[in-house]
Amino acid sequence: MATHYTTQGFVFKKKDRADADRIFSVFTNDFGRIEIFAKSIRAIASKLKGGIEVFCVSDIEFIQGKNHKTLTSALLTEKFSNMVTVPEKMEVFAKVACLLDDFIKEQETDQNVYNLVINFFKTLNACLLPTSGYRLMYYYFFWNFASIMGYKPELFKCAHCSLGLDSANLYFSNKEGGIICKSCFLKLGNAKEINADVVKILRLFLKNDWQTMLKLKIQSASYKLLQEISDNYGNYLSGILA
Ligand SMILES: [Zn+2]
Repeated sequence: MATHYTTQGFVFKKKDRADADRIFSVFTNDFGRIEIFAKSIRAIASKLKGGIEVFCVSDIEFIQGKNHKTLTSALLTEKFSNMVTVPEKMEVFAKVACLLDDFIKEQETDQNVYNLVINFFKTLNACLLPTSGYRLMYYYFFWNFASIMGYKPELFKCAHCSLGLDSANLYFSNKEGGIICKSCFLKLGNAKEINADVVKILRLFLKNDWQTMLKLKIQSASYKLLQEISDNYGNYLSGILA
C-alpha cells in the first residue's frame, strides 16, 4: 500500500494540465518545496476543490509515486484573501513567488525560510500601506530571505578590509557581500555607490524593525538605489545558486 504523507504548506504557483488536472508548487513545513499533482481538481465534482489554492496555506496529504506526488486530500487553513483585492499586494506576492521559484530547490527544508514566508504573507495580507510601502515590503522580504539563505550582507564595516565605514563613501559589492569602503572600491572596482539612507534602510530590514521602517520617508533617489542594488544582488545570487 502506498505511504501517505501529511504536511502544511503555502501554495505559490499552479499550472493547469490536461484532463482538468493541475500541478501546484507548495512550500511546505516538512518537505521544503514540492510539486504536487492534483488529479481532476478542476472537475466540478472534485473533492479536492476548495482545499488548495494559490495564496493559501493548506493542510495536505499526498502519496509519493514513482514520478510524482499525488494529492489525496487538502484542507484550506488560511486564505490571504485581502491580497487579491489590492493590486500592489498582488505585485509583491508575484515577485516573492518568483524568488521562491528561483531559489528554493525541491525538497530542501528550512524552518526559518518557512516562517519568514508565512509571517511575511500574514503581514502583507493584513496591512494597509501607501504604494511605496508595498514596494519596500518586497525589498524587506528579499534581504531577509537572502540572509536566511546564507548571504546576509555586511552593513557595519567594510566587507573587504573590515575597517569602519565613512557615511559619505559607501559602495555595495555583490562579490564581497556587502558594503565596502572607498579605498577598497578604488582597488577592487565592481561596486555600486550608495548613500547612508540606503544603508539605514537595509539595517532596519535586517533588524525586522517593521514599525520604524513604515514611518520612513524614503527619497526617490534612495529608493532607486535600493532597487538597483537589491535587483543586482538577486541576479548575482541566482547566478551562484543556480
Ligand atoms: Zn575596505
